[in-house]
Amino acid sequence: VTATSARPRVVILGGGFAGLAAARRLGERHQVTLVDRGADFEFLPSLHELVSRCKKPRSLRLDRERLVSRQGHVFRQAEVAAIDRERREVHTADGGVLPYEALIVALGSARSTHAAPGAAEHAVALRSVAEGVAIGDRLKQLVDDGGRRAVTIVGGGFTGVEVLGEVLRRYRKRRGLTVRLVHPHARLLAEQPAAVHHALRRVIDDCDVELLLDESVAAVEPGAVRLVSGRWMRSELTIWTAGGSPSPLLAAAGLAPAGEWAPVRRTLQSRACPEIFVVGDSAELRHPLAKQSYHASAMGRRAASNAARLLAGRELRKLAPPPQRLLITFGHLSGFYVDDDVVLEGAALCLAREALFQVGMAELDRGRGEAGRRRLRRRLRDAMRLRSWPGALRSVVPFPFGRAPRDRYDLPALPRVLEWRRDDGGAAAAAAGALGTSARTVRELGERGPRALRLLRPRQLDGVPPELANGG
Ligand SMILES: Cc1cc2nc3c(=O)[nH]c(=O)nc-3n(C[C@H](O)[C@H](O)[C@H](O)COP(=O)(O)OP(=O)(O)OC[C@H]3O[C@@H](n4cnc5c(N)ncnc54)[C@H](O)[C@@H]3O)c2cc1C
Repeated sequence: VTATSARPRVVILGGGFAGLAAARRLGERHQVTLVDRGADFEFLPSLHELVSRCKKPRSLRLDRERLVSRQGHVFRQAEVAAIDRERREVHTADGGVLPYEALIVALGSARSTHAAPGAAEHAVALRSVAEGVAIGDRLKQLVDDGGRRAVTIVGGGFTGVEVLGEVLRRYRKRRGLTVRLVHPHARLLAEQPAAVHHALRRVIDDCDVELLLDESVAAVEPGAVRLVSGRWMRSELTIWTAGGSPSPLLAAAGLAPAGEWAPVRRTLQSRACPEIFVVGDSAELRHPLAKQSYHASAMGRRAASNAARLLAGRELRKLAPPPQRLLITFGHLSGFYVDDDVVLEGAALCLAREALFQVGMAELDRGRGEAGRRRLRRRLRDAMRLRSWPGALRSVVPFPFGRAPRDRYDLPALPRVLEWRRDDGGAAAAAAGALGTSARTVRELGERGPRALRLLRPRQLDGVPPELANGG
């Protein structure tokens, strides 16, 4: 590809949340090419719903060519093979060369390289729609075959917990199916408040799941799993959910040390090379952000604006990360909302998660005209399929769609507060209430010192506890 006009060339590597957000932000003043190995964008945060076969694969996919060309940009489906920083070129595996004036690297994360021996061959990962479909099909086949079968989920982070929830959502009443989860920490979702672990534990015990905490997998064998403690267990299906690793391209291009994420400034410029921006899961800020889709999108937007500013010789702006709010579903059996102020639990939160998915997809796929409306209607129709309804909804709709509740998880449950998170002795939360912001913002202001709070107008400080307002 050669430059065909005076428009500066911006190349975006990876068309996930970060890459697509960057492409949307850049306008016609730039000649933009987005490269990805896959033809379709895949909505990774909802992959777990393929395990219960509640979501259809087509609901989670969007055609990249359509999304990118709608912005007036070029989509190139190819495997990125190398970044030549000296010549400012990207090389693709099919022999293509893409020169750039600014480069945005949004390659996400790759399959974990820390998996136990045998995991690559005998366990399945959940990182793509195809893998989600394969897990859902295998699970159904095991259950339909009857007899005694065991499923092992490795990892009790977000993906492991959500996968377990989906298995239980569909198969918790099936006899003969042993479900277990192996997790190396004492608590599920170890970085979240303990209240979430305890609430999950109650559901898990109720559903007869074998939870192996403080335990790790030493090796995966055909039809079996061996633990570090020496225990050997049959496992007809082993699902590996633990961790992701940086793309090897980052180190090969000198953007990161081997096996590490690429260090970036708050402008999202690579610390190794100012005309290269690294965003999304691939990037590591000095105060690292959780590897989540909303952070990836925010980084993509900021990097695109900064690339345009850099090319125009203007000053770059720093990323202001959105506040962290988590919505975790446990297969419609339960759901959790966590922010700096509160932890909520309740199956009704699963509907909020579905709404977020629908809004997220509609925002990416702002289809115009009849074709756009048709795609939206199809996604909504897929969401309304009976199988994907929460049990609680199906137990209140009339015959023939209704179903008698099977257990307490098929009864409506409104969210309840599990915990108020007033960890600064209540001061930050009280100040947040007075200022109309979150406790995190107040704590961050506090960390920046009393001067930050002094910048607030006196009226805004009304009601802020004196120990904070005075810089305490
Ligand atoms: C199972 C699962 C569940 C998740 N759940 C949640 C959740 O509930 N909430 C949440 O906020 N986040 C969730 N995440 C995390 C979220 O999906 C990621 O943070 C987000 O996708 C990161 O966006 P990204 O653009 O950096 O990378 P990605 O979305 O991974 O996109 C990277 C793109 O780069 C392409 N690529 C990589 N290497 C090459 C190459 N060499 N050549 C060509 N193309 C290449 C890939 O094909 C991919 O399209 C989940 C992730 C997974 C896997």
